[in-house]
Amino acid sequence: MNWFPLLKTVLIILNVLIRYFYYKEILNIKKFILKKGGMKLDYSLSEEQKMFRQSVRRFAQEKVASLAEEIEESGNYPDELLQMMNQQGIMGLPYETKYNGGGGNLLMMCLAMEELASVCANTAMVPTTQELGAMPIVVGGSEEQKQKYLPKIASGESRISFALTEPEAGSDVASMRTKAHFDGRNYIVNGVKRFISYADVADVMCVFAKTKTLNEENVSAFIVDKNTPGITIGKKENKMGFRGFSSCEVYFENVMVPPENRLGEEGDGFKIAMKTLDKTRPLVGILAVGLAQGALDTAIAFTKERKQFGHTISQFQGLQWMMADMAMQIEAARQLVYKSAYVIDQGELGGAKYGAMAKCFATDVCMKVTTDAVQLLGGVGYMREFPTERYFRQAKLLQIVEGTNQIQRVVIANQLLK
Ligand SMILES: Cc1cc2nc3c(=O)[nH]c(=O)nc-3n(C[C@H](O)[C@H](O)[C@H](O)COP(=O)(O)OP(=O)(O)OC[C@H]3O[C@@H](n4cnc5c(N)ncnc54)[C@H](O)[C@@H]3O)c2cc1C
Repeated sequence: MNWFPLLKTVLIILNVLIRYFYYKEILNIKKFILKKGGMKLDYSLSEEQKMFRQSVRRFAQEKVASLAEEIEESGNYPDELLQMMNQQGIMGLPYETKYNGGGGNLLMMCLAMEELASVCANTAMVPTTQELGAMPIVVGGSEEQKQKYLPKIASGESRISFALTEPEAGSDVASMRTKAHFDGRNYIVNGVKRFISYADVADVMCVFAKTKTLNEENVSAFIVDKNTPGITIGKKENKMGFRGFSSCEVYFENVMVPPENRLGEEGDGFKIAMKTLDKTRPLVGILAVGLAQGALDTAIAFTKERKQFGHTISQFQGLQWMMADMAMQIEAARQLVYKSAYVIDQGELGGAKYGAMAKCFATDVCMKVTTDAVQLLGGVGYMREFPTERYFRQAKLLQIVEGTNQIQRVVIANQLLK
């Protein structure tokens, strides 16, 4: 007997049955929705988060906004404002409560920094840069190191800088020339760091330097007290914007650093620096969102007042569409930053990619929006009396710090091609 036709028929029937049950399950969308109760994906902030944001907004508007221009012009940051931020717990917000911090997460930091940046980006830069300086200790420090340094950083009693960039090593971090040679008792650090934020006011710095093991040179990370002999702070850079915070060169000449100040093992420095930046880039992104929102708000108010051709300029459709585009871009950037903060807070895979995406997208949006805001104000937008030109100058820096936006695209592409 020839079994082949029978076998073929059975296989066809089986195939049809499998397809039937498979597609019945997959295509029964309604049943799925009803069964899972609609599978709510909650994009909204909780009531508590909204109240927290509201309280920072009030602080920003009542205590910070009126000082923004003076801070940018004078280049001096008022001590009273710093004390107020300490008292309000803003400086300590991201650190764990066991280190006297506020126990906040990255998303909460983003909510707070957005509000500060929308009125005074120099002010938002203070806790943001403090977190950048402290993050190598958070991600690479021992419990003893954390206990020693983080409580003072969280209380604002101690300021900390992040010293990675050098004259010959910017984007190409690994080509750094600063060396840390172990003499049997201490590391002896020699080299130069460049553009280090708040180096003049910092008490402590996280410094990255090359150490040599056998024939191999690797980057190591150290906590360095700034009053250690051999450290000289160079001149304050004369910047285009963000003049309210200092950026300095730092010279290290035979600076003795005890081995207990090394973060992790010898050679862990590059990994610690990258992990740090992965976690702090969303904060640069949110500064950009705040700045862009501030620029848009100022521009909207102006267009409702300014009259040309017998109408307020807000009535011209060409400008309305510009403002609609600006608002759309800001909201998209905000959501991407929140998403990156959420992914990093949850410890989900993809933190590095989302952090780079958020920083890159939001800061590009900020540059575009602040440029358009100047345009909306016409000649006035170019003048110092209005904050719009300040927003515009400040926006440019955000595309450069913590890795230029070209480097963010390299990070994203590397993650995609992994
Ligand atoms: C105001 C300010 C504050 C700063 N604060 C700090 C701080 O606190 N601590 C710290 O360590 N650093 C700090 N920096 C340094 C900052 O992170 C660097 O400036 C930045 O990483 C770029 O390095 P670079 O300036 O040497 O530029 P370069 O690396 O020389 O880049 C020049 C240009 O080449 C592009 N480029 C380089 N490599 C590539 C590539 N592979 N592909 C495509 N394009 C590329 C860059 O995108 C850029 O457009 C600060 C900088 C400024 C301006």
